[in-house]
Amino acid sequence: MDIADVSNRVMRHLLGDDSRSLLEVAPGTVVVAHDLPPSEAALLDPRKVVGLVLEAGGKTSHTAIMAKAKEITAVAGTGPLCETVTDGQRVFVDGYRGLAILNPSANRLRAYDDEIERRRVYRESLSALTTSAPVTKDGRTIDLSANIEFIAEARAARKYGARGIGLFRTEYMYLAKRRPPTEEEQFLVYAEVAKLFKPYPVIIRTFDLGGDKVLAGYTEANPFLGLRAIRLTLGRLDLFGDQLRAILRASAFGNVKVMFPMVSTIEELRRAKLEVERAKEVLKARGVEFDPDFEVGVMVETPSAAIMADRLAQECSFLSIGSNDLTQYTLAVDRGNEHVAKLFDHLHPAVLYLIKKTIDAAHQQGIWVGMCGEFASDLPGMLMLLGMGVDEMSVSPGMIPEAKGIIRNIDTGVAAEVVAQALKLGTALEVQRLLRREMDRKFPQLTGFQFEENKGK
Ligand code: PEP
Ligand code: MG
Repeated sequence: MDIADVSNRVMRHLLGDDSRSLLEVAPGTVVVAHDLPPSEAALLDPRKVVGLVLEAGGKTSHTAIMAKAKEITAVAGTGPLCETVTDGQRVFVDGYRGLAILNPSANRLRAYDDEIERRRVYRESLSALTTSAPVTKDGRTIDLSANIEFIAEARAARKYGARGIGLFRTEYMYLAKRRPPTEEEQFLVYAEVAKLFKPYPVIIRTFDLGGDKVLAGYTEANPFLGLRAIRLTLGRLDLFGDQLRAILRASAFGNVKVMFPMVSTIEELRRAKLEVERAKEVLKARGVEFDPDFEVGVMVETPSAAIMADRLAQECSFLSIGSNDLTQYTLAVDRGNEHVAKLFDHLHPAVLYLIKKTIDAAHQQGIWVGMCGEFASDLPGMLMLLGMGVDEMSVSPGMIPEAKGIIRNIDTGVAAEVVAQALKLGTALEVQRLLRREMDRKFPQLTGFQFEENKGK
């Protein structure tokens, strides 16, 4: 990788390309690029990069998720733009509407100033919710937790009032270091997060490498259908073992659980659980402590896992639905491909059907089920989840106060009626229309919430 990196730098100089490194940009910079892999997005410094505009990609691509985690306003999938925009030009990025405005007029900027102020006041009003409980109108407590990639976000999540970490995307430790982190490096991070959230749960997902999360130079014909996530780690037991021992060791310091990404067969779960047992044996031999009641969960993000959820649920302690991949794989729409971004809709009835099926299957088997995909981060999605009886929702740290406000304004019985109607419909558009109508009629108090505007593009 280092040789590839050095070669690329030499080539850039030979070609007279004077583009600066993303690390060297001045404060207030908007980065405009054709595309940016998540491994590079992980390096963006939010104190310098205030906006990110990409010609390619979609709003649930890992690069978009990374930008959200860093609270960098981002728009993806704009189509041709790099040819038009020049270095030093003024660009206004509107992440709510999915717009990048070149040389905005004074009038437009004034209107945006007003909007920014309105949103600031709105967000401030939500901060009052930081200490209130995520309880629905009819008294159901929802475990509202946060998705994180880095330790700094864990601190932000705590500040915003998260009750645990629902998804720790650990692969970014690998991508940021450009090498596998050691057992000790991982242990220190996991244990710190565990202590920060004790007694609330911290769910550590094992490396979801592959797909779009690869270091430069690695290629596969169909990466999202290839050697990704659990498939990759089961083929690299050295890497997997280091990570599992680090997670188990951290479990002695708080309420730590593990979950496996992109499971598509029950054998994968069984093999992964075997590796957990092996890791425990190694630690016992070393005399190192871990939680004796350590729980193992499965991410439901492939159609096969959703269809087999009842059987998976018999062999694990919890399920967590990853709607981003579940939508991608169910609708056969690459989540990072701007050409098919319009087809990517997690409100598609086929996706709703699989989410409902997974939630019911978990409950029938007596285990809890959460949602850690972006489905939990928009108003219609939250309404559906509450109506389907989900137990946990995990969203990016900055969204915790707003999500809490929504939960507190919804009656799950009424939401269940809307779900029953939605499941009878045939298209995502019909579901959206139904939700808009029913939200106005049954939950007028939610009109102040702004999730639905978050188009991203
Ligand atoms: C998902 O697929 O919904 C998920 C939560 O995992 P990721 O976005 O990291 O693929
Ligand atoms: Mg996923």
